[in-house]
Amino acid sequence: MMRHHPIDANQLSQKWDVIVVGGGINGSAIARDAALRGLKVLVLEKEDISSGTSAWSTRLIHGGLRYLEYFEFYLVRESLAERERLLRNAPHLVKPLGMAFPFYKQNRRPAWMIRMGMILYDVLSYDKSLDHHHILSPQQVFEQVGALNPEGLSGAAMYYDCQVAYAERLSVENILSAKEQGATFLNYARVKRFILDGNRVCGVEFEDLLEQKTYSVSADLVVNVGGPWVDEVLKGVGKPLKRLIGGTKGSHLVVPVFPGAPKIAVYFEARADGRPMFVIPWTGRILIGTTDLPYQGDLDHVEIDDEEITYLMNETNGIFPSAQINLDKILYTYSGIRPLPYVGEKKTAAITRRHIIHDHTPEVEGLISIIGGKLTTFRNLAEQCVDLIGKKLNRPLKPCVTNKVHLPGAGEGNFVEFQNQFIAKSGFERDIASHLTEIYGARAEKILALIQKEPKLKERLHPGDTTIGAEVIFAFEEEQAETIQDVLLRRCMGGYNDSAGLNILDPAIQIAGDYFGWDKERREQEKEAYQKYIQRYRPKLLRQP
Ligand SMILES: Cc1cc2nc3c(=O)[nH]c(=O)nc-3n(C[C@H](O)[C@H](O)[C@H](O)COP(=O)(O)OP(=O)(O)OC[C@H]3O[C@@H](n4cnc5c(N)ncnc54)[C@H](O)[C@@H]3O)c2cc1C
Repeated sequence: MMRHHPIDANQLSQKWDVIVVGGGINGSAIARDAALRGLKVLVLEKEDISSGTSAWSTRLIHGGLRYLEYFEFYLVRESLAERERLLRNAPHLVKPLGMAFPFYKQNRRPAWMIRMGMILYDVLSYDKSLDHHHILSPQQVFEQVGALNPEGLSGAAMYYDCQVAYAERLSVENILSAKEQGATFLNYARVKRFILDGNRVCGVEFEDLLEQKTYSVSADLVVNVGGPWVDEVLKGVGKPLKRLIGGTKGSHLVVPVFPGAPKIAVYFEARADGRPMFVIPWTGRILIGTTDLPYQGDLDHVEIDDEEITYLMNETNGIFPSAQINLDKILYTYSGIRPLPYVGEKKTAAITRRHIIHDHTPEVEGLISIIGGKLTTFRNLAEQCVDLIGKKLNRPLKPCVTNKVHLPGAGEGNFVEFQNQFIAKSGFERDIASHLTEIYGARAEKILALIQKEPKLKERLHPGDTTIGAEVIFAFEEEQAETIQDVLLRRCMGGYNDSAGLNILDPAIQIAGDYFGWDKERREQEKEAYQKYIQRYRPKLLRQP
């Protein structure tokens, strides 16, 4: 397939300060921070921005109440501080989310323990803009939360965290910002091996998976941010290195809003095993998760299994008896692998969620690998990693500014004011205007400008769907999409509608095909590739005979 954004071999031949392997949330944030601090950065991603674990999370920007159980006070404080920064720097993507933790007689953790945890959570977020926790009576639970199972219910703790409904867009915006600062990003560029000079990494060889060409690029330093693939990437060093990742699998169900569904997120103990679970309102649907299972399978194809579906359905029906979720109600599922540190046989829930920035010196020079890391803490991880890069390059870097600098879609003014004005004045129907500002933030203006040039791109891809034609073109022209899959799953986010994007696939291909002059073969290729990929979501549309 021909690249929409051709690779400039000449530009690649320069010596880079840093090559970042992996365009998930952590790789894209490291690239952004490094570029903002004046480094020449090349990012190589074997699929697309945020096509790995960063797309498979529960989409919470949270302190992680449960980590208090494991005395991870530093991690909780770090996460809560990052949550606050994200509310400031990415208000279009990160929104406050009410959470309720119900007290059940049968809970393994007694109510007093949860209340202690809540107090500690408030103390650790002393500088937050969100409200402190408070306690709800059973009656208030039914009124303010949803139709929870009344049996054994004595109330709930109500507190606040945040949700990033379109987590993929956080990575996209980090890459856009890195590019604004001069970084180069290539998707469908798989790093095959490291180029070594003695014991020192001095570059990588990568394959352009779209045009089947191989390139060698040189750099002073390489950062391996391959998420669960970190050990796979390290095989490219060509000598045995100790195992770093012990990934665990986590799966989610997506179902339509059911009678008595929660109005805010519910965080509860699974009856079967006491594990923490979530039932969360998400993009007009309900997101249910997760599992936490050791995983040795194919990292490139992770799919929910039947036992996980049964577990998630049973637990949800247990706490929301009116949900009556059965296989037929599931719109789709998604699963991913947590890139946790390898710790042998330790209980999966007890493995730390803190990140480790692993400098391979003296085994291998010029190479850093990232182990673990939550979505929530990407900014801080990136800052620490770039501090280390500066030390290793022995070069004074500009100070880190990601603490204050907004992501591109946040704009500079008050986002809510911008959004209200856009909804009132853009001329789009209200649901479309609201969708555009939630996906692109202040950059929704650019979609408007595109429509002024091409008015027919104003049309919805499907009646009742908020994605419009202009977004397809915008993804290719402004956000470095290469395929329709990139567009639907990681740019306009239409791939997460009720039909997992299958109802907007043909129109999206037609719009891109007509605009860019794709031939029949390319159109068929795009359709087949999307349908094949989306099977891992087990979407309802493809489950039916
Ligand atoms: C089920 C689940 C729920 C979670 N929920 C939350 C949550 O609610 N909140 C939270 O804060 N965190 C959550 N997390 C954790 C969080 O999602 C991850 O820790 C984070 O997304 C990891 O990002 P990453 O960039 O390190 O890895 P990834 O997103 O996996 O990125 C690694 C990238 O490297 C690329 N790559 C791999 N090999 C190569 C190669 N050879 N060449 C080029 N590129 C390569 C991959 O394609 C991939 O895109 C959850 C994780 C899971 C699995």
